[in-house]
Amino acid sequence: TSTAQHKIALVFGGSRGIGAGIALRLAQEGTNVALTYAAAAAKANEVVAAIEAQGRDALATQADSGNAADLQSAVRQAVARFGRIDIVVVAAGILHVADVAEFSIDNLDRMLDVNVRGVYLAIQAALPHMGEGGRIVTIGSNVAERSSHPGSSVYAMTKGAVAVMVKGLAVDLAPRGITINNIQPGPIATDMTADMLEMITPLIPVKRVGQPAEIGGLVAYLTGPDSGYMTGASLTIDGGMSL
Ligand code: NDP
Repeated sequence: TSTAQHKIALVFGGSRGIGAGIALRLAQEGTNVALTYAAAAAKANEVVAAIEAQGRDALATQADSGNAADLQSAVRQAVARFGRIDIVVVAAGILHVADVAEFSIDNLDRMLDVNVRGVYLAIQAALPHMGEGGRIVTIGSNVAERSSHPGSSVYAMTKGAVAVMVKGLAVDLAPRGITINNIQPGPIATDMTADMLEMITPLIPVKRVGQPAEIGGLVAYLTGPDSGYMTGASLTIDGGMSL
């Protein structure tokens, strides 16, 4: 009964930070959640326990977003457990900051693999299990709008690619009744930004960093009934930082 009554979400990168905040919010909305992690099995299991404590079902699967077979396996396991997928969120992402003179080819390839190729392959793998009314959300970044910090060229390139990918996918998926939108957060308090937040906060007009739950709130809108006319959009949520 639970899969018939409750929507099913698959959150790539749901073990920590923004993805965990999204997974918890979707559970509050009544959604059962499958989530992936790269390495942090214990963190992923904490998120699963928190979702189960809310009375929803959850499943954590190890899947490196740089690995196509892992992504397909995560989708298979989610469908084996829940039968279908209504909502896909791709939050998995990495950040490597370095000047162009020092950026290694290995780090360049890894950034492109996880932040761009992995986003595309995750969506591609999930789509056969999605139908009319499906909702897809990617997590880009406000650096796609303005990247004024030294060393951010590759990260900005990956997030700009996601914003444009989402426009193209929105056109492809519209006839199937599936929307896809991209959230572009500014600084959010997570492990990724832990050592930068103090430096960044004065640059944010609202004078604070964001919380993962605030991104979860936007995902609740984008995956809910009121957002059906919005697709292909990139929504910046950054306390005014990129204005
Ligand atoms: P965190 O580093 O806190 O968490 C990253 C999440 O992604 C974890 O669940 C992690 O899994 C997972 N992940 C990392 N690498 C991989 C991989 N190769 N394969 C699968 N999963 C992976 O990051 P944030 O929550 O801060 O960031 C989430 C997303 O939001 C990213 O795409 C990031 O670029 C974007 N973003 C973040 C901002 C911020 O200020 N924090 C601002 C704008 C955008 P595990 O726990 O196993 O390592």
